[in-house]
Amino acid sequence: MRKMTQILDVPFDAVNMAEAVAIVKGFLQDGKQHYICTPNPEIVMEAQQDKELMRILREADLVVPDGIGVVWASRYSEIRLTERVAGYDLTQNIFQAIAGSAESVYFFGGAPGVASTAARQMKKKYPQLNIVGGHNGYFDDAEEKKILADIKRLAPSILLVGLGAPKQEKWIAAHIEELGVKVAIGVGGSFDVMAGNVKRAPKLFQKLGLEWFYRLITQPTRWRRMMRLPKFACTVLKKKKQR
Ligand code: UDP
Repeated sequence: MRKMTQILDVPFDAVNMAEAVAIVKGFLQDGKQHYICTPNPEIVMEAQQDKELMRILREADLVVPDGIGVVWASRYSEIRLTERVAGYDLTQNIFQAIAGSAESVYFFGGAPGVASTAARQMKKKYPQLNIVGGHNGYFDDAEEKKILADIKRLAPSILLVGLGAPKQEKWIAAHIEELGVKVAIGVGGSFDVMAGNVKRAPKLFQKLGLEWFYRLITQPTRWRRMMRLPKFACTVLKKKKQR
């Protein structure tokens, strides 16, 4: 039985990082297909307006909070989330867990060249990790057919999709069945971080729950998207009052 908590109608699994990794290991063994979403407050807000995204999040097999705002909001829900489980950290932990095993991974997304640099860097970090292929995330219909064929041919057990949200969630929902992968995860800009093009916030910022602030000052073009954060907080508080 999943232990879940709802934040503005988006269900989150109340798990810490170690539990999330154990669940993914189970997904790799049970003979079924699974997709994992890692919403932050911006995506939770987007899902309020986008019914298709809301449905996809509600049907996901594992939903973990990629944002301290979501962890904060859970204090007003039935079950409190104990920690942020960022998509980037989750994938790193999965790499560590599957390195040296028969499981394999495919990197799909990012600007041209990013997925291959990310794969090279991850190979250095986890020499036993089996990365079977990758492709950038900019494609037309013809190119998409080739990408789908490439993934099917290489048959990775885990497909990482970094097309940004909500594009990646919709892409995964539309294609997971035909691809036959065991696990698909929407990883946002994680390939940029793995490739070394974008830096994570220093550990202290992460510990203090201020990674969003670091991203705002280092990537100021994100400010428009981040305007959703105060709106998210207000919506959560308003809902709490109505209870
Ligand atoms: N991206 C892509 N195809 C697209 C749009 C975006 O591959 O059509 C990639 C982009 O290069 C970047 C990632 O998707 O690597 C989005 O990163 P961002 O940090 O914005 O992710 P989010 O915050 O949405 O998780």
